[in-house]
Amino acid sequence: MAVSGGGLRVLFATSEIAPWVKTGGLGDVSAALPAALAAEGLEVRVLVPAYPALLAAFPERRPLARIEHPAGALRPALLSQPAAAGGPPLLLLESAEDYRRPGGPYQDRGGRDWTDNALRFGLLSKAAALLASTDTPLDWQPDVLHCNDWQTGLAPAYLRYRLRPRAATVMTIHNLAFQGVFEPALLAALDLPASAMAIDGVEFHGRISFLKAGLQHCDRITTVSPTYAREICEPAHGAGLDGLLRWRRERSAADLTGILNGIDTGEWNPATDASIAARYSIDTLEAKAVNRRALAGRLGIDAPPDTPILGMVSRMTLQKGTDLVLAAAEALVASGARLAVLGSGEPAMEEAWRELAAAHRGRIGVRIGFDDVLAHLVEAGADLFLMPSRFEPCGLNQMYSLAYGTPPVVHATGGLADTVVDCNASTRTAGTANGFSFTGASVPGLLAAVARAIEAWRDPPLWRELQRNGMARDWGWSTAARRYAQLYRSLRPGDA
Ligand code: ADP
Repeated sequence: MAVSGGGLRVLFATSEIAPWVKTGGLGDVSAALPAALAAEGLEVRVLVPAYPALLAAFPERRPLARIEHPAGALRPALLSQPAAAGGPPLLLLESAEDYRRPGGPYQDRGGRDWTDNALRFGLLSKAAALLASTDTPLDWQPDVLHCNDWQTGLAPAYLRYRLRPRAATVMTIHNLAFQGVFEPALLAALDLPASAMAIDGVEFHGRISFLKAGLQHCDRITTVSPTYAREICEPAHGAGLDGLLRWRRERSAADLTGILNGIDTGEWNPATDASIAARYSIDTLEAKAVNRRALAGRLGIDAPPDTPILGMVSRMTLQKGTDLVLAAAEALVASGARLAVLGSGEPAMEEAWRELAAAHRGRIGVRIGFDDVLAHLVEAGADLFLMPSRFEPCGLNQMYSLAYGTPPVVHATGGLADTVVDCNASTRTAGTANGFSFTGASVPGLLAAVARAIEAWRDPPLWRELQRNGMARDWGWSTAARRYAQLYRSLRPGDA
C-alpha cells in the first residue's frame, strides 16, 4: 500500500457529519474524506459540535479538555471523544446551550435560523483554532487544520488575531452561496479585536463574514471541483468574493485549487445495493430492466420499453434548475418520455410538481419528500438522469447516475462539467463519452440535450458504450484523498 501520509496529522473541523447530522454534501464529505485520508496513512481527527444525534449515538465519552474563553461571549465547552466510533476518531465539542437543541444544525424546527449562530459557530471556530495553536490543551497536535465552509471560517482569523498558530490551515468551500454574514456589533462578543474589522480582516461590506475571514487568512483554499474553482473567481459565480479569490489565485496559483469529491462506493454501488430491486454490474446491465419496472410501479407510471424514463433526485431550488425541468416537462411528455421525480424544497416548486403529476397521471410520477431508498431506485431504474443545476460546486447525483449506468443530462457547470463528458464525435472516438451536457441554463438548451440523449438511447450499442464509460471509472474517494494528502504535505515544513 502506498502510504503518502508520512505521519501527517490533520484536524478536520466541520459542522456536519453523515449519517448523524447532514443537510447537504458537507455532511457526506465529512464522513468519507477523513476515512479515505486515514486509509492513505494520515492521522486524522474530526472536530464536530455535539448535537443531540451525536450524543445519542455515543453515550459513552471520554472527557479530554475544558475549553475556556477568557474574553468575548463564547461559552465554555467540553471536548470529549466517543468510546467507540468507526472511522477516524471524533472530537465532540460539547456545549449544551449551543448545540443540544431540537431541529437542524443551523435552524429550528420551523426552518428559522438560530439567532445565535454567530456565537455557536464562533465557538466551533475558536475551538478548532485552539487545537491548532501552541496553546492546545491536547497532547495530539495537528500539522494541518482543515476548515470547511463558513461555520469554521473564523478559525484562521483566531489564529491570526488571538492565538499562536502551530498548524497550517486549509479552507474548503463546499458552497460559496452560504457565507455566514453577521452584524458588526458581534465583533467583541466573538472575541475579535477592532482591528479585524478591516478589508484584509473579517469585514465584508460593513459586516462580519465568517467565510471571507477564512478565505482571507488560511494558507490554502480548496473547493470541490476544478471548474467551480475557476468559476468562483468570476463575478457571475463569485457571490461577492470573486475579487478576494482572484487576488489569492494571482498571489500564488497554489493558493486555490479544485479537488473533485468522490462518492461513497460502499453505499452507491449497483452490484451491492440493497435498496434496489435487482443488483447489476457493467457486465449484467440487462438486470437494470427489473429496476426500471420497479421504479415505474413505485411512482405509478406506465413505461413501455420504447419510452425512456427520465429520472431526477434533487433539492427543489433554483440552484438545482428543477424549475427548468418543470417548464420542460410537458414538452418531454409530449415527445413520449416519462418522468420519475423525487425531491423536496421550495413549497411553490413542490406544489407545481404535484399539480403536474396530477395532470399527467401515468406519465409523470412525483414523490415529494426525502426518501433515500427511492433515491437509489431512481438512479438504478431510470434510463437517463436530469441535473440542469444553474451552479454546482461538485454534485453527487450525477456521479451516482454514472456509476449506475444511467447517463446524465447536465448543464455544463462546476463539478457537472468535470464529470460528465458530452457525447459527440470526438469524445466517442476518445472513448470518454458518458452523458450529455449543454451550456446556458435554459429550457431550450435542456430540451435539445434531452432530445440528443433520447436519440442515443434508441441506439442500443451506442447507449451501452455510454453506460460502460460511466461505470468503468472509479468514482470513490481515494483519488481525492491523495490530492489532499499532497496539499497537506506541501504545507508541512521540510516535506514539500
Ligand atoms: P446538494 O448537496 O447540493 O443538495 P448533491 O448532489 O451534492 O446536492 O447531493 C445531494 C444528496 O442528497 C445526494 O446524496 C442525493 O441523493 C440526496 N438527495 C437529495 N434530495 C433527496 C431526496 N428528496 N430524497 C433522497 N435523497 C435526496
